Amino acid sequence: MKQAEHDQGRRRFLRLAGISVAVVPVAGAALRSAPAAADQPRLSEDDPTAQALGYVHDAADVDSDRYPRFEEGQLCSNCNLITGDKDAEWVGCGIFPGKLVNANGWCSAWVPKR
Ligand code: SF4
Repeated sequence: MKQAEHDQGRRRFLRLAGISVAVVPVAGAALRSAPAAADQPRLSEDDPTAQALGYVHDAADVDSDRYPRFEEGQLCSNCNLITGDKDAEWVGCGIFPGKLVNANGWCSAWVPKR
């Protein structure tokens, strides 16, 4: 290996090492400051997106005239879009990031669990 190639590789390594040293503490701080799922606010049925998707805290309240695709037994707890602790009463949802939905709830984005 020529000296110039060796120096170039060494500079690239030092640059990447410097970036890594700078990024790790920032990423760690971001993860520590991210609220735990249980600390996230619950989605309101009055939230505009929730209303647009017909979200309700209790699937028994689904307006089946408005959502004929709804079938009894469809719940947030068995939707493929829930995230986090799947056994909790309030769970995360990929459609409503940063908010918790009720495990017994439903919205028109419901997708069967795979
Ligand atoms: S996408 Fe699924 S988990 Fe999220 S609110 Fe709708 S039914 Fe519930």
